[in-house]
Amino acid sequence: MARFDLDNLVFANKDVLREDWQPDNLAERDDEMDTCASALRPLLRGNQPDNLFLYGLTGVGKTAATHALITELLDAAADAERHLEVVELNCTGITSSYQVAVNLVNEMRTGDAHSHALTTVSLEKDPLPETGHPQKRVFRELLKDFESAGGDVIVVLDEIDTIGSDDDILYELPRARKTYDIDVNLGLIGISNDFKFRENLSPKVKDSLCEKEVHFQPYDAEQLVRILEKRADRALADGVLSEGVVPLCAAMAAQDSGSARQALRLLRIAGDFAENGPSDGDPRITEEHVRRAEEEIQRQQVVEGMEELTRHGKLVLLTVAHLEAEGETPERTKVIHQRYRQVSKREGSDPLKRRAMHDHLTDLTLQGVLTKIDDTSGRGNYNQYELDVELDSAIDALEVEFDDLTAVRETAHRNHVL
Ligand code: ADP
Ligand code: MG
Repeated sequence: MARFDLDNLVFANKDVLREDWQPDNLAERDDEMDTCASALRPLLRGNQPDNLFLYGLTGVGKTAATHALITELLDAAADAERHLEVVELNCTGITSSYQVAVNLVNEMRTGDAHSHALTTVSLEKDPLPETGHPQKRVFRELLKDFESAGGDVIVVLDEIDTIGSDDDILYELPRARKTYDIDVNLGLIGISNDFKFRENLSPKVKDSLCEKEVHFQPYDAEQLVRILEKRADRALADGVLSEGVVPLCAAMAAQDSGSARQALRLLRIAGDFAENGPSDGDPRITEEHVRRAEEEIQRQQVVEGMEELTRHGKLVLLTVAHLEAEGETPERTKVIHQRYRQVSKREGSDPLKRRAMHDHLTDLTLQGVLTKIDDTSGRGNYNQYELDVELDSAIDALEVEFDDLTAVRETAHRNHVL
């Protein structure tokens, strides 16, 4: 087949399955969007809106719902002849209120080259340097810029949990009208993936930021089926979808995280396998492709997680992989440590003491690579560990660091765990 032959393609528009593709109208989130709309509606009459706090696990539509909602609101504002402006910031990588303020200012001062899709304000002012001003001064600049925007302003702070307890800005912004005497109705929308962040907000911030809280629950399998079907309809060529594929993607994602992002990724990678695999002129996505996609995603996750690991973290993971291949998991820390000592020596590293090795077990568990099982049966109370990812994926990832792991694979095959 010619390399760029356009017949037999699986995707009609692959972009539609991309994470940043914005659906026209967001199904399955009507209730959440209604609540948000009621908080913001006062803006259409020139009144102060309620601040909103949206929270829920990753991939459950918080960002997508906000984008859809703000787009609707801007239309409604135009109809009502109200001047409404939006500033959006994704706070990934931002760790302080100061940085949030500087980045908000510069988001408005980048002319039309905004880094965020929702931002409408564009001011002809010089950008602020990232450091070197007192926080008060930056806040004042920020509020002056809101005034310069020329209308009421909605500020969207996505993934705001990254600022942790340095949350002054969430206290200052809602009070800006009074404290700084500015004549702008300001609506604040905070979005967080992290439940702890909400719990740990200081009471004064909580009162003002969370006037309306909207919890985005994980999607169940039926919702994910409906979401995927809509996207698949536009993304895929006619007739390439075998029955069972969408329900399988939905079921896998629902069971794991309830994340639409995960479900979409499964479908997209399964589509890749179908499009690039051997096909006798009949490219169809099958359930087998979805299973391979899941393994591929897991492998990527482990590889990404592995990049962050130290040498000993990798040795600990290798040890658990050995035990898993032998069918010995879950296994207790004590036994893992004995094996880890052998593995380390064989790989030419000085083993850590049990306590220090245990820290690595804990880290790997937090990263979702291992699972901890409490065993309170029998005498004493043991922690046991096993892989939380496919053994196959773990070995693939470990092969980047360690030379020859065929023996582990063979052991696993002999024990029917691979
Ligand atoms: P979050 O912000 O909660 O992490 P996103 O809003 O980024 O999640 O959603 C992740 C992906 O799933 C995006 O591609 C988004 O378009 C899609 N998505 C989420 N919810 C829906 C839905 N109800 N309908 C269609 N697509 C959705
Ligand atoms: Mg998001």
